[in-house]
Amino acid sequence: KKKEQIQFADDMQEFTKFPTKTGRRSLSRSISQSSTDSYSSAASYTDSSDDEVSPREKQQTNSKGSSNFCVKNIKQAEFGRREIEIAEQDMSALISLRKRAQGEKPLAGAKIVGCTHITAQTAVLIETLCALGAQCRWSACNIYSTQNEVAAALAEAGVAVFAWKGESEDDFWWCIDRCVNMDGWQANMILDDGGDLTHWVYKKYPNVFKKIRGIVEESVTGVHRLYQLSKAGKLCVPAMNVNDSVTKQKFDNLYCCRESILDGLKRTTDVMFGGKQVVVCGYGEVGKGCCAALKALGAIVYITEIDPICALQACMDGFRVVKLNEVIRQVDVVITCTGNKNVVTREHLDRMKNSCIVCNMGHSNTEIDVTSLRTPELTWERVRSQVDHVIWPDGKRVVLLAEGRLLNLSCSTVPTFVLSITATTQALALIELYNAPEGRYKQDVYLLPKKMDEYVASLHLPSFDAHLTELTDDQAKYLGLNKNGPFKPNYYR
Ligand code: NAD
Repeated sequence: KKKEQIQFADDMQEFTKFPTKTGRRSLSRSISQSSTDSYSSAASYTDSSDDEVSPREKQQTNSKGSSNFCVKNIKQAEFGRREIEIAEQDMSALISLRKRAQGEKPLAGAKIVGCTHITAQTAVLIETLCALGAQCRWSACNIYSTQNEVAAALAEAGVAVFAWKGESEDDFWWCIDRCVNMDGWQANMILDDGGDLTHWVYKKYPNVFKKIRGIVEESVTGVHRLYQLSKAGKLCVPAMNVNDSVTKQKFDNLYCCRESILDGLKRTTDVMFGGKQVVVCGYGEVGKGCCAALKALGAIVYITEIDPICALQACMDGFRVVKLNEVIRQVDVVITCTGNKNVVTREHLDRMKNSCIVCNMGHSNTEIDVTSLRTPELTWERVRSQVDHVIWPDGKRVVLLAEGRLLNLSCSTVPTFVLSITATTQALALIELYNAPEGRYKQDVYLLPKKMDEYVASLHLPSFDAHLTELTDDQAKYLGLNKNGPFKPNYYR
């Protein structure tokens, strides 16, 4: 039974024509956008007194005498450990994975090179991978998001981590290079978030791919790049697209946005939602999450949609579906979540009332035409971090949050539980690719097998003391299902 729970994948689904929601970037670019998007982390104990000295110039050793890392300040390890322990409390799925796989060590012999945000939550993932038998070398996928004390704690625990908050572009690639390029150690698995690490290996060390058993990619952008490589016939190892696993998508888009929309707005503006008129553009997963939260607080919510099905869903959920022009003069808050561009135009912005708050929960910074606000007659006033007042000649102010970038990424934190879903999915994808028999996966991009997705969800059920009903033999036969899943077809989302 134990074995079966980890060896989930018998069905495979090829990655085909996944709609791209992110603009594509060529592999020859210098640094990825996702590596510079600001990302707020909850805790930071960083002592700025030694900010002048680059970690690259410092000689540091951990308490066991190892110097196989490069972090801001190894002395912060104790603070970092505490952060990791706090994160562990809401990541019990990973802890139970550690326990379940203790005996068999499904990642024994795995040498994983990783490039992700380095936060307390990813530290729990990295330490889980180590507990399952892997050796890890890690760098940051974003130059701002590293929690220095967490990186220190990982280094103290013996993980070869090369990352600090506020890396330069040169530092960024140097850290990645230090992870890949090591005498006597060659990676056989890649865990990437954004595709920069994969890009570096392709560019600098193509021979490394001879040993690589698979790539696990987290981001929309990275997945898109892998798909392009695959289409060009240049993908030389199997890759797993964990971004589009059902559980991960539901949590990232629906549940996470349901929680973080209010957090982001409140932290930046102290706004009260009861009775406020809010228009939400797009009633997809993100839009549904945002609207549910706003409605619960007593806001009057309007929806704009282009798709009649989503529009009808909005009607059924009790929202008024309108054109943006019809409500733009009266609303107090405008939120975009369409994945589209120029949904809020300068014309809309011109017509908004004084103090209207404008923010984006969707694709990068294209949904609100922020560029159109950079004209001489308008004055920009930075009133708080991530909050700009854009002032019209008649004195009207529009409150623009995070310059139109993703509000929750820029102005709130992502709940640990959401990251637990992601991290568990990544861990299982690595286990799957590493242990897959020859020939199961070809040089292509794969979606997670449904059974694996279901397993990720099942590992999170004990947190809620939720009790699953088991199919009887008779019922399983009636529905044509295996009693152990998968319980839904691959296309079910
Ligand atoms: P989705 O496709 O389910 O929903 C988008 C909706 O917008 C669709 O129903 C579509 O019909 C509608 N739409 C498109 N153009 C429109 C327009 N001009 N006016 C009104 N409606 C329009 O996608 P989703 O999962 O909800 O994601 C939306 C965006 O949010 C994507 O760019 C995604 O990458 C991003 N996203 C953000 C977060 C976050 O944490 N903020 C998390 C996940 C995804």
